Amino acid sequence: MPSLERFVYFFGPGRADGSAAMRDVLGGKGAGLAEMANLGLPVPPGFTISAKVCIAYIETGAFPPALKEEVARHLKALERAAGKKFGSPTDPLLVSVRSGAAVSMPGMMETILNLGLNDVTVQGLIAGSKNPRFAYDSYRRFVLMYGDVVFELGKQPFEAVLDEYKRRRKVERDIDLPADDLKALVAEFKAIVRAKRGVTGVAFTRDCRTGANVLNGDVLTNAQGEDVVSGARTPLSIDRMKRGKLTKIYKELERLADKLERHFKDVQDIEFTFEHGTLYMLQTRRAQRTGLAAVRIAVEMVNEGLITSDEAVQRIPPGDLDQLFHPMVDPRAVVTVVAKGLPASPGAALGEAVFDADEAEVLAKKGHKVILVRPETSPEDFHGIVAAQAVLTARGGMTSHAAVVARGMGKTCVVGAQDIEVDPEAGRFRANGRVVKKGQWLTVDGTTGRVILGQAKLVEPKVGTHYHTLMSWADARRRLRVRANADTPADARRAREFGAEGIGLCRTEHMFFEGDRITAMREMIVATDEAGRRQALAQLLPMQRGDFEGIFEAMAGLPVTIRLLDPPLHEFLPHTREEIAGLAKAMKLPPAHLKRVVDALREANPMLGHRGCRLGITYPEITEMQARAIFEAACRVVAKGGGKKVVVEVMVPLVADVEELRRQAEIIRRVAQEVFHEQGRAVPYLVGTMIELPRAALTADEVAKEAEFFSFGTNDLTQTTFGLSRDDAGRFLPFYVEHGILKDDPFQVLDQEGVGRLMELAVRLGRGTRAELKIGICGEHGGEPSSVKFCHRVGMNYVSCSPFRVPIARLAAAQAALEEAGVINRTRATV
Ligand code: PEP
Ligand code: MG
Repeated sequence: MPSLERFVYFFGPGRADGSAAMRDVLGGKGAGLAEMANLGLPVPPGFTISAKVCIAYIETGAFPPALKEEVARHLKALERAAGKKFGSPTDPLLVSVRSGAAVSMPGMMETILNLGLNDVTVQGLIAGSKNPRFAYDSYRRFVLMYGDVVFELGKQPFEAVLDEYKRRRKVERDIDLPADDLKALVAEFKAIVRAKRGVTGVAFTRDCRTGANVLNGDVLTNAQGEDVVSGARTPLSIDRMKRGKLTKIYKELERLADKLERHFKDVQDIEFTFEHGTLYMLQTRRAQRTGLAAVRIAVEMVNEGLITSDEAVQRIPPGDLDQLFHPMVDPRAVVTVVAKGLPASPGAALGEAVFDADEAEVLAKKGHKVILVRPETSPEDFHGIVAAQAVLTARGGMTSHAAVVARGMGKTCVVGAQDIEVDPEAGRFRANGRVVKKGQWLTVDGTTGRVILGQAKLVEPKVGTHYHTLMSWADARRRLRVRANADTPADARRAREFGAEGIGLCRTEHMFFEGDRITAMREMIVATDEAGRRQALAQLLPMQRGDFEGIFEAMAGLPVTIRLLDPPLHEFLPHTREEIAGLAKAMKLPPAHLKRVVDALREANPMLGHRGCRLGITYPEITEMQARAIFEAACRVVAKGGGKKVVVEVMVPLVADVEELRRQAEIIRRVAQEVFHEQGRAVPYLVGTMIELPRAALTADEVAKEAEFFSFGTNDLTQTTFGLSRDDAGRFLPFYVEHGILKDDPFQVLDQEGVGRLMELAVRLGRGTRAELKIGICGEHGGEPSSVKFCHRVGMNYVSCSPFRVPIARLAAAQAALEEAGVINRTRATV
């Protein structure tokens, strides 16, 4: 039953739930604020907790049960009025708490400012204010006031530390201290609160960085002084308790820690204290841990009989596996964040800032570590991305060129860092009042999206036997197959090392940018007739065939899906006047002619333009060449003997209507027969399509008449379903997510309600036509845990993702299978 009594009263600009007449209920301050709000005076929004609560507390020693819910409701109203969220890591609402009374009580009223700040929300305040000094100053004030008012510690212990800092820096005012000092003060102030409160220790039942089964933690001096250490505020390792007077306490702590772990069947984060030789436990909760530790702990707990292998598989957040494969910024390092962007490809890397792909390549060859910084990247920058340690772009979303290419290579990447203004010509970028010039060191943190000045301390990744054990348990449970998106034999080999069971997407266009190939490609594009195009394609044929041979060999009998040329042709040509002039000279063409070709190919909306199968429809000779390269390569690998099998899947991109697929499939099948006839052998193959346009999904029953498999291209399907450009949406999508309009960036996490519904429909329609239709996904969502689980639920056969995300997908697929009630030991789908 909801309580009829009211305890909380709202006030805000132009509206209040009370008035000056309610002094007894609202106190002097609350009544005055309510009256001013009623008069239309500008008061900030807030709420008053009635004096009745105080009386109830004095009488009963407890708050009225309904109070909590009422405060929570008013806090929500406050969030709406302020347009911020309490506890938000990006745009936190901070509140002041002031006491009041019906009668005047000078000097007795207390205040806590900046309630709502903690180690996470302070980052949001920094991002919003662009002023770390202000943010940490607010935070350390909050800790001081909380310690003073709530724990009644007084201001003196805090001010003594603050004075020490000011003396060291030779400054008079608090705010003249640098941001790093203010940040350090937050930690010192917190330590004072802990120590003075008498909380003498924090312990973890296992090491949460490595997973090792050892009790560890810190102990702080307390006011009574148990003689652990004296005078220092810095915590010391609890190992110090093993010897001397505290041995008995330590042994008891060890015993209780073990008891708690066995009870909760998980690693505990414990707070304890001790007095006159007696240990008291103050708190226990599940301990946070690194990915590395999570895996080791889970596996060892299975071996110790604490949990089952299925529980171990379910316990690891799949995304945490990233930490096993990429270096990370040391969480304890003090860093200067110059900007933030989207965390497009995880890991952390250091290098000198470079603003041009060619220069990145040249410097990398000389042994420099470089970070390629661009406004955005295009296929022309490919060699620069290869050469760089990490990529940073000012524009672009999670499926923009830089994001997709870097993720494919397992290279650190941050995109859409809107605060940076890149000037490639001048060789510098500006960000939040700083200028970073060519050659300056940067650390790019692709796990969090941070761009850090200088060389941050990194922690190197580790993969051990525990990982392999865990993955073997996961593989035994999952039904979905996991393939990789890979474009080169090297990527294919790496994909297999990560456990890929095939290639779900080989983007053939990436092969056209290397060395002489781009020249032949450009010759094909500028050719004015079919004969000219065929001549250029004839040069490309052996190169493509060689790539495919390498990939088929690396995958040795596993399925390989090769997608025909997809991007619009202008992406292969230069765009600036100088570059066009340079290329015209190299191609021995009049610059005006080349300029005409470039202009003719320019499209206002290239992502919806002359690309995908539309190229193969208008220039069938391109499809012929690619099909020939694929089948010749397949025959050659088989002809080499050794029992090597090749499983070929030819995939047609951007199909909207079945007729497009029918015409492309006709060419592919004709060329296959020609090649098999010439080579005197045949290889098994399938012809299928990407489902990446809503129309293809809606007419999937028709499309399945021609397609032997479907692969969802959820990058384009998200783009076209939402009408959101995958290259430009980064400018405003973060706003949408921050303000709760969208729960997640749909290019990162599959939109199950919208895009997902189209996919479910396509699966149903497709299998209605062809019951055995093989269905997978090759958009970036194929490596995102919640999206992988969705793919499992709708009955797909496989997911395909960048090689580094293969383990994540394997684990997520196992979790999906385990989540499916009562379904274990099902047979795997065929691939
Ligand atoms: C897609 O659209 O999801 C896809 C895999 O293709 P691309 O990213 O190359 O357009
Ligand atoms: Mg696509």
